[in-house]
Amino acid sequence: MEELKQRIREDGVVLPGNVLKVNQFLNHQIDPDLLYRIGKEFVELFKDQKITKIVTVESSGIAPATMVGLNLHVPVVFARKKKSSTMNDNLYTADVFSYTKRVTNTISIDSKFLSADDHVLIIDDFLANGQAILGLIDICRQAQCTIVGAGVVIEKSFQEGASLIKEKGVHLESLARIASFAGDEVHFVGEEN
Ligand code: 5GP
Repeated sequence: MEELKQRIREDGVVLPGNVLKVNQFLNHQIDPDLLYRIGKEFVELFKDQKITKIVTVESSGIAPATMVGLNLHVPVVFARKKKSSTMNDNLYTADVFSYTKRVTNTISIDSKFLSADDHVLIIDDFLANGQAILGLIDICRQAQCTIVGAGVVIEKSFQEGASLIKEKGVHLESLARIASFAGDEVHFVGEEN
């Protein structure tokens, strides 16, 4: 998505540890117009599929996932990283190692929000080593949902997440694919020079 790539070139900051900071429009301050168009782009990419639910993980996945749900008029469910007192004990859970926080969280979704009738599109902001999305795939499989695919806003293609997700047989679409951060600059796939 050219508009997204341009915004990453303008506002993205490369941090140590292969982390891209995009706090100007995605991870802290949110640009709702851009995010709305991101939602539409995902809808277009998965337009031939039946989708009944969007699934993501808190907190940074919620904004793009909500925009997809808004465009499709289907509910958005986000996995929680901490068990809330309002949740019952019927949970689907998975352990996920956080790339940026370097801790393992048990993420969970209340079983009442996923069923075997659901056709789920998984959405997240970033794809690095794939742990977050693999955890969501695990949860969807526990619930016996049909996984339509996974959509990520920014894929770091030099890390292993994309291949791990494809190995699971899940259709992956990424709106911006980063080949490297050589020289502390963002180089997109197909534009490495
Ligand atoms: P993974 O589970 O694929 O290793 O990492 C994905 C999760 O870690 C995303 O949900 C995102 O919150 C966070 N993450 C991974 N890489 C980056 C990055 O370069 N920048 C930011 N802002 N978050 C990242």
